[in-house]
Amino acid sequence: MTLDLLIAGGMVVTPDGRRRQNVGVADGRIAVIGTDRPAARREVDASGLLVLPGGVDTHVHLMDPGSTEREDFPTGTAAAAVAGVTTIVEHSHGAPVRTVADLRDKQSYLTGRSNVDFGLAAHAWPGAAGDVAGLWRAGVAFFKVFTCTTHGIPGHDAAALRAHLNATALADAVSLVHCEDESLTADAERLLRGSGRTDPGLLPDWRDRDAEVVAAAVTALLVRRVGARAVVAHVSHPEVADYLARERAGGARLGAEGCPQYFLLREDEVHEHGALRKFTPPARARTDSDEALMWRLLRSGTLSHMSSDHAPSTLEQKAAGDIWNVHFGLPGLDTTLPVLLDAAARGHLSHEDVARVYAETPARTYGLYPRKGRIGVGADADLVLVDPGGRRTLANENMLSKAGWTPYHGRAVTGLVVRTYLRGVLIAEEGEPIDAREGRFLSGGGA
Ligand SMILES: [Zn+2]
Repeated sequence: MTLDLLIAGGMVVTPDGRRRQNVGVADGRIAVIGTDRPAARREVDASGLLVLPGGVDTHVHLMDPGSTEREDFPTGTAAAAVAGVTTIVEHSHGAPVRTVADLRDKQSYLTGRSNVDFGLAAHAWPGAAGDVAGLWRAGVAFFKVFTCTTHGIPGHDAAALRAHLNATALADAVSLVHCEDESLTADAERLLRGSGRTDPGLLPDWRDRDAEVVAAAVTALLVRRVGARAVVAHVSHPEVADYLARERAGGARLGAEGCPQYFLLREDEVHEHGALRKFTPPARARTDSDEALMWRLLRSGTLSHMSSDHAPSTLEQKAAGDIWNVHFGLPGLDTTLPVLLDAAARGHLSHEDVARVYAETPARTYGLYPRKGRIGVGADADLVLVDPGGRRTLANENMLSKAGWTPYHGRAVTGLVVRTYLRGVLIAEEGEPIDAREGRFLSGGGA
């Protein structure tokens, strides 16, 4: 067998450790790994670089179809490629997948529109638990569930949530649950609107810690009692993570998703930045020690993995309307792996942890492993070459998302993504995407 590609002399990093090895690729898959240096049609010198598994970002909204004035698949997946992400799982609230026909339509619409491989999630709908089994067998990666009505998607109360989780337990399907208690957020909204407030500082009062922890607790308890599998989305503070860990210790099959904004952004930034910090749950960290605790929870596995929750709007869109009406959400695909690499450079994580939390664990959770999220013989050759000591400053003008800005503008980070390969094909080099549109649909664990 002649190899198509040999990535030679790099430090191969997996969750288990690192070794200087050569990685050989044939037909889009990893064919050999070791210290031998077999012949290949192309050879890339990776000495001095880390070879990491391609990022697997399982909470991404590319708004396509739905709200393409905010983002689309070509732009969003160009951002992914440059940032070292080779697999995403996408769902958009503007055009939710609720039936098998919706899934097939979206799959065919996206043919030739993606630069990275992609799974698609369905939206759970109160009263539609009967649709779960069919969607799961058809290949959705997970079911997105809201506990509060948000982004136009109706919330599940405890009865609807239990019915949904029962259906997923029967099918062995997995859910990603947005946890904020509807009665608490609705009551806070009434009070805040009644007092006439329109200042951005209302956000943490509207979407407070109690609302999140109450919904997470109900979700975790039902997941355990029903025997379902679920992930609590965007855990914003340690109390939620600790509660989920207790339920996990009691047998709940429960993941806890982290996102960079709950580590790096501070609760009080909303006063200065207004709508550019409108996302929910909002930022909770107040101090550097709050941030350090979140990294410790990630390192220990209490937080199971990382996602961007990429939900972009442009600066113009974020400026249109008052704080109540403007879109929730932040862009994040451009920056998630860079800020994780930087956290490794700052000693909060190891690069092995980065391979675990942003590749292996999300791939396992959503049925994409062992093909994705792994550097091993037989896996797809989704590889990222990283200069661990390279430095850059994150800046709005370098973002490839249609959003065109980042909440991390001006932040200096250490750790540069030098090259990204999708199934052995170079899809980004030194900050430039190669718009190959080679991305393929990936079925989830039920297909
Ligand atoms: Zn989201």
